[in-house]
Amino acid sequence: MNVRRLIPTAALAAAVALGATALTACSGATAADGGKDGKLDVTASFYPMQFLAEQIGKDHVKVDILTKPGVEPHDLEITPKQATKLGEADVILYLKTLQPAVDKAVAQSGVKNIVDAAALTKLEAHGSEPGHGEAGHEHTDGDEHAHEQEGDGHAHGEAGEDPHVWLDPTKYAEIAQGVGAALKKADPDHAADYDKNTAELVGKLGALDTEFKDGLKNTATKTFITTHSAFGYLAERYGLDQESISGVDPQSEPSPARMKELQAVAKKDNVSTVFFETLASDKTAKSLAGDTGLKTDVLDPLEGITDKSQGADYFEVMRSNLKNLQKALGAK
Ligand SMILES: [Zn+2]
Repeated sequence: MNVRRLIPTAALAAAVALGATALTACSGATAADGGKDGKLDVTASFYPMQFLAEQIGKDHVKVDILTKPGVEPHDLEITPKQATKLGEADVILYLKTLQPAVDKAVAQSGVKNIVDAAALTKLEAHGSEPGHGEAGHEHTDGDEHAHEQEGDGHAHGEAGEDPHVWLDPTKYAEIAQGVGAALKKADPDHAADYDKNTAELVGKLGALDTEFKDGLKNTATKTFITTHSAFGYLAERYGLDQESISGVDPQSEPSPARMKELQAVAKKDNVSTVFFETLASDKTAKSLAGDTGLKTDVLDPLEGITDKSQGADYFEVMRSNLKNLQKALGAK
């Protein structure tokens, strides 16, 4: 227990410091609002960042989100109005390289407390398997021959790095710890609460990791096919092999050569199911499944939660993903 946080002068000093931070970042009205409700204004770039801010910040934060539910995040455009509002945030939480328009707006925001989730864990490249043709994900160019990024783990924006880290509960927990530290720094008055909430969330993510480990230990096949190649980290963590149809762009048509290759993979590795995601079209998944006599099912990259999602939050959707993977892979 930290008794110092109960001393009113300390609280006052923190409030003054917070007000000063807000004043440097914006012009008047919103800073005053922020002062009135006493909450830290956090702007999160997309759902997995929003979830961290809410779980760790709880009552002490007001979370605004740039990628509205149901919007595909990769190609998000930022309106001038959103850019202005972004400049008024106390804390920005985003994941560099996932959304180029957000990266640009954040760089221009002038906000003091900027948290880049990509710098809180180690990003890796998930290129294609040798002999399996084109690279799965298309966030960045030149990842075909890329392997694990060299360096200190804080490098980001390098060609070939896969931003979908939140789909690995262990890496997501690392990010959660960094977010907890950042909220503490921005709002030291509630440090003990942020610590407690972070520990709770990290514990839950550890339990989720164990469920995945146990649930995917013993399966008939290790290969799964998905439209959007968001599951490279998840595959690596649990010893699976992700094969993707067409990368991140739901509009792009996979080449006939890639479709043929996937048919061969499906046959060789006893794949039963082609996965599609909730925010994108299932057309290519259905077409591949139809050609190969496979089933289709949902594997949700959790880039947004809508009422079509198979769960109300990160944990529910991840457990639904686990269930669907177990079914598709023939878990024993
Ligand atoms: Zn994605």
